Amino acid sequence: SNDKFPLLDGGVPGPVIQIHQGQLKAQALRLKPLRAKLPIWEHQEAIRAALQEKNVLVMLGETGSGKSTQIGQFLVKERWMARRKVSITFGKGDGNGDEKDKEVMVGGCIAITQPRRVAATNLARRVAQEMGCHLGDEVGYSVRFDNKSSEKTQIKFLTDGMLLQEMLHDPLLKRYSAVVVDEAHERTVGTDLVMGFLRGLVYGKRKDLKVIVMSATLEVEKMALFFERERDAALAFIKAKEERKRGKKNVVEVNENGDGGADGGKLPNGIEKGGGGKKKGKKYEGTSMINGNPYDWKSNKEGSSPPFVNGERKGSVEGSGSNESSSEDFDTEDEQYDGTVAAFKVPGRQFPVEIYHAPEPVEDYVYAALKTVFQLHYGEPLPGDILVFLTGQEEIEALQKQIEDYAQSMDKNVPKILVLPLYSALPPGLQQRVFQPAHEGNTRKVILSTNIAETSVTVPGVRHVVDCGKVKTKQYRPRIGLESLLITPVSKSSALQRAGRAGREAPGKCYRLYTERDFMPLADTTVPEILRCDVASSILTLKARGQEDVLAFDYLDSPGREALGKGLEHLYTLGALNNLGRINELGHKMAKFPLVPALARVLIAAAEPEVDCLHEVIDIVAALSVENILLTLTSDEKREQIEEARKEFNRREGDHIMLLTLVREYESQPQRKAWAEKHFVSHRAMQNLLDIRKQLKQYTNHLTLSPSPPPTPAATVTPDLATRILKCFLKGFLHNTARLVPDGSYRTVVGNQAVAIHPSSVLCGKRVEAIVYHEFVYTTRAFARGVSAVEMGWVGEGLMGGS
Ligand code: ADP
Repeated sequence: SNDKFPLLDGGVPGPVIQIHQGQLKAQALRLKPLRAKLPIWEHQEAIRAALQEKNVLVMLGETGSGKSTQIGQFLVKERWMARRKVSITFGKGDGNGDEKDKEVMVGGCIAITQPRRVAATNLARRVAQEMGCHLGDEVGYSVRFDNKSSEKTQIKFLTDGMLLQEMLHDPLLKRYSAVVVDEAHERTVGTDLVMGFLRGLVYGKRKDLKVIVMSATLEVEKMALFFERERDAALAFIKAKEERKRGKKNVVEVNENGDGGADGGKLPNGIEKGGGGKKKGKKYEGTSMINGNPYDWKSNKEGSSPPFVNGERKGSVEGSGSNESSSEDFDTEDEQYDGTVAAFKVPGRQFPVEIYHAPEPVEDYVYAALKTVFQLHYGEPLPGDILVFLTGQEEIEALQKQIEDYAQSMDKNVPKILVLPLYSALPPGLQQRVFQPAHEGNTRKVILSTNIAETSVTVPGVRHVVDCGKVKTKQYRPRIGLESLLITPVSKSSALQRAGRAGREAPGKCYRLYTERDFMPLADTTVPEILRCDVASSILTLKARGQEDVLAFDYLDSPGREALGKGLEHLYTLGALNNLGRINELGHKMAKFPLVPALARVLIAAAEPEVDCLHEVIDIVAALSVENILLTLTSDEKREQIEEARKEFNRREGDHIMLLTLVREYESQPQRKAWAEKHFVSHRAMQNLLDIRKQLKQYTNHLTLSPSPPPTPAATVTPDLATRILKCFLKGFLHNTARLVPDGSYRTVVGNQAVAIHPSSVLCGKRVEAIVYHEFVYTTRAFARGVSAVEMGWVGEGLMGGS
């Protein structure tokens, strides 16, 4: 294999060369002592023993304890891992006597699921290094639009969505001896569905399958009970417990809400020369360029620490693999639950973290983060990197630019700042940089991350956390059938995880950009995604895998009758279900795409012979899947210049056809990079787009749709073609349409909600009869993003005609 080898020992970037086996093994040897220091290391025997006895193991382990990287390596040599013959009962299983036992080959590989692609690919890379093999051989990964695994693969990291995808062809997961559900506390829809299916399998056709559920929070307790055979009893138990809890002050609050403390109101550092309270260590000379007073941070408690720290840095063995003691690992209070699931707790190595709250509500948390970063940089000695939690790529890019601008005017004697962004859409090579030490000495790393760094990715070197207290989440309003991305407050559990990131290597500090008062009303835990998203996709997933009765599925938390009803309705309008609500051929076709049902519907519509615009639609779908293709500039002076440059692909039909024109222009250039620069288009995003397009083509090939040969890149998009394309999008996005009303604003066709065209759209400020849009975002108000002009007549046609 001529694999790239991005990292050498400890994260120093290595040359891109072919590494031979000897070098790989040498590196694995060098990494071994690091592995042996991980808290989970000493528990490996106990973990193996537990799994020899039981088929289900739930594990509570703090972030960074080594769960994700080590579990596969601990288990890969186990006897039960070997590929072997088992007897599986086929048939309805309803006791009618039509069951038949069949000998089937199973096993040989461990699947480790992750909610995020970043985590799946990074972990695979790391574990391949630790095992001394090429990525894609013994260790591999599989994520949407990217597969690096082979027949040889024994440890496979994959997103939960990809495991569900594999279940379409292999519903019994025959390829695997074990499935590890990692980051289960995140409670993504994918994770929840995987757990539901796994529960069915371990007590059904795959009694030999090993299931390991890993979580960084106490949520794991609920999962242990979920996997119990006596499920009704287990659920009743949970319910009774939750009710009792509600009557009490909860654990998180007690620990967080410490007694003001002697050190309250202390100023940890000063941004101005000579300013600031108690000095710790060396203080750097130099003046800050940022106006305004430093924050008078209010510490709620001297040396207070998140509850999971609890002064418990002992790292003692608390693991237990045996049935008898499993209930002791969880706080089951006076009741004893007779478990059949093995439970295990790996204590992390956590130093105390001092938590500070903003004294007053913060208006602009990006600006507040900027100030805090410099306060810390001037006030706190090195080493000690800073991790800032923000909500998304745009905020991260904005703050990165501001920090870099200010950093340029820092005095020479002040240490340098290296800003490293971290978000899902960031290319893998750049993601890897957060693991590397700053190249130059006397430099402080400032990592700007989304909630990826909350539990998924452990960034080394961090001693200070700055938390904006917000997260971007999907919210669904079933009444109007609208799913949107909203910036919402985090849960207490998330806030604690974020704070905990500061105490991985030494005592740390966490600065919350919100008041203590605002902390109190936060929800204890994050609401599972399945309870706040459009469940159409989940329903299609279930039905395509044989679970027609979606109300009866084993949900960890059921979305409920109303939401499921809405989801069924949505699928029905997309044409995926027949009149009895059962999945039809079109539905099966849609389920094969690793895309939301709406986009799958669009692709299928485009492949119909009389429509025949699959190539074009694939280009657009690929473009819509990539973020930030068009670079936005903050300064006004360049805006005109950009507009002029972009005229070449501006289209009055709207963003869909604009994107298509852009892709074609880009492809027909001899000098693509230069062209991209001149037109303020991200070359990197375009490459990503072409990659996704290639994968989408593979998916459409599988469906035996036979499109006409691809058009030449330079071909212009005629109005007739544009109409055909937009009608395809309407097939999938009828619920995302709005019409112009007399006052010049837009209102959704379904639900009559006000919606404005997003400033990033080519149609912004234009008045057209009706629009179809790709997504709905709510920032300062409701915006439609990815917008095209359509006729009300077309919308009507769709609404009347169904599919
Ligand atoms: P957990 O799953 O318990 O959160 P992990 O197994 O993910 O813990 O991480 C264990 C350690 O390995 C952490 O200290 C982390 O920083 C390190 N690590 C993980 N991935 C990489 C990587 N790609 N490069 C360097 N270090 C890594």
